Amino acid sequence: MRRKLAAGNWKMNGTGASLSEAMALAAAHPDPQVDILLCPPATLIDRMADAVHGSRLAVGGQDCHAAASGAHTGDISAAMLADAGASYVILGHSERRTDHAETDAAVRAKAEAVLAEGLVAVVCVGETDAQRDAGQTLAVVGAQIKGSLPDAGVTGQSVVVAYEPVWAIGTGRVPTLDQIAEVHDFMRAELVARFGDAAHGIRLLYGGSVKPSNAAEIFATSNVDGALVGGASLTAADFSAIIAAL
Ligand code: PEP
Repeated sequence: MRRKLAAGNWKMNGTGASLSEAMALAAAHPDPQVDILLCPPATLIDRMADAVHGSRLAVGGQDCHAAASGAHTGDISAAMLADAGASYVILGHSERRTDHAETDAAVRAKAEAVLAEGLVAVVCVGETDAQRDAGQTLAVVGAQIKGSLPDAGVTGQSVVVAYEPVWAIGTGRVPTLDQIAEVHDFMRAELVARFGDAAHGIRLLYGGSVKPSNAAEIFATSNVDGALVGGASLTAADFSAIIAAL
């Protein structure tokens, strides 16, 4: 049985004052039946981990470098994220793939670094509007999964895959439940074909304009084990309502 996961991605939002939202979230879910993760900007990881220490809330990074250390100005390694209190790392978010030209190979190298550090990699995949219109959704998602996941060490404990159609992120547009089910069932089959029975334990998140009002129906969809939430994870009230729907 896969344990559900509600993951929040704060993106480039939040300062010290925002930690009150994380603390309120932790207080609202003292003994959650699901896993809860917040991924703040790197500047807040250490402070957020301290602020929610002793709670059931996990803290994660939004990216890392593939190398453990070295001459990479401005970058952060998986070891540094772990040292700051992170236990998960989002990788290959479409905003990073677009803004920083991250390739599947780059995401895979980062995932290898995350797994080597004993952290959980949350690997994002998803098609653009144009790719969906061209009927390429499954081909694109399949190629991203193939290229972005390491060959070794992939289990339900080490890897989470998030399906995030690029056109649904921050737009208020959401695929139909049938469209979500089609991609999630496909991802499960691809993962099982490659990694065997262990892949039945890999959690598959849906991400893209998840809100309190649509969370329950999305969570009831085939092979959806939770959500990766952007905008609605910024306030404890909205994220709590989504968690309650899991
Ligand atoms: C995201 O950035 O991962 C995301 C899903 O954003 P939003 O929920 O705001 O669409």
